[in-house]
Amino acid sequence: MREIIQKSLDKNRLTMEETAVLVNTTDPALVEEIKEGARELKRRIYGNRIVLFAPLYVGNYCVNNCKYCGFRSSNKEQIRTTLTDEELIRNVEALEDDGQKRLILVYGESPKYSPEYIAHTVKVTYATKKGKGSIRRVNINAAPLDMEGFRIVKEAGIGTYQIFQETYCPEIYNEYHPTNTKKGDYNYRLTAMDRAQQAGIDDNGLGILFGLYDWRYEVLAMIRHTNHLEACFNVGPHTISFPRIKDASGLNIDKKYFVDDETFEKIIAIFRLAVPYTGMILTAREDAAFRAKAIEYGISQIDGGTNLQIGDYKYHHEEEEKNSDKQEDQNLHREQFKIGDDRSHGLLPPGSHGRALYGIQCAGLHQALLHSECHPYFERILGGLRHA
Ligand code: SF4
Repeated sequence: MREIIQKSLDKNRLTMEETAVLVNTTDPALVEEIKEGARELKRRIYGNRIVLFAPLYVGNYCVNNCKYCGFRSSNKEQIRTTLTDEELIRNVEALEDDGQKRLILVYGESPKYSPEYIAHTVKVTYATKKGKGSIRRVNINAAPLDMEGFRIVKEAGIGTYQIFQETYCPEIYNEYHPTNTKKGDYNYRLTAMDRAQQAGIDDNGLGILFGLYDWRYEVLAMIRHTNHLEACFNVGPHTISFPRIKDASGLNIDKKYFVDDETFEKIIAIFRLAVPYTGMILTAREDAAFRAKAIEYGISQIDGGTNLQIGDYKYHHEEEEKNSDKQEDQNLHREQFKIGDDRSHGLLPPGSHGRALYGIQCAGLHQALLHSECHPYFERILGGLRHA
């Protein structure tokens, strides 16, 4: 285990097998060594820098019915909204007032949010400038598209295309994403990054919703997905996100695989060591104390906003104190997840630590790595993709 940590401290990617050694380490003293190694690697590569960005939900209409999500179609209490262009501009201006430079626009899955519509909102966001404020990078989190759709959003100048597999276990995936919904097609989602790459989007963000299935499986599967992208396209994911299941309105799911804080810290530390140069994102779903720890162990990007509901940043800022009870009540029916860290301006002052690390990428092909790690199960799922 110490040799593996040292390999990572020398800024080398870890194989799946090496990652598995870390995953299987349970002795508390040794787990502390893993965390210490991750802390040291984070310090060496990233120093004190952290990338800040703000999530902005553009619309919460959704045809899917993911059991864990407040936006699921069966949640009739949810108030559905799509920001008008004016509302979008007002939100972006409010974020610029806060000093934000990077946004991620988030969309439910709906015919309303076509690639053309997504591209339009990206362009409106870039064009919105208030005073000296401007948004330099617009990332998107949207449902998987076909090749033509990806080409359309690429032309709008998106930064990262982010999509989470949620769980890599097909059976569990089908349990949480009914197969009669659009999101119910496990393979179509799994291959989204391949289509994005083929359409020219080489800046992608992966993620797992920890708590749906055994975290050890998910960690290794996401490393495997990373290896696949590196082997086929010579570039791994730009970022990996770490959402963890929290309460959402009407949430009623099996808590068997929920991940406690201690395990989650270990997961983050393992990823830091396994993929030293990949950006790692934690959201405001986690509380401030946990976020501070996670930043030590490996998180390099956090969202500096608190808008995990469809709403209006401007309204939220100006009116929330006047109207807090009423607003709170409304928000319960507009949010996707509960927010753990609700400090209104994020963990660190926007702009002061927001130096991007985008130039850093894991270099080199991992073709050999990929072939040596091919497991029959993954062969079935991903085998065809390597030759796409
Ligand atoms: S997780 Fe995404 S796709 Fe699923 S219901 Fe929520 S918004 Fe829709």
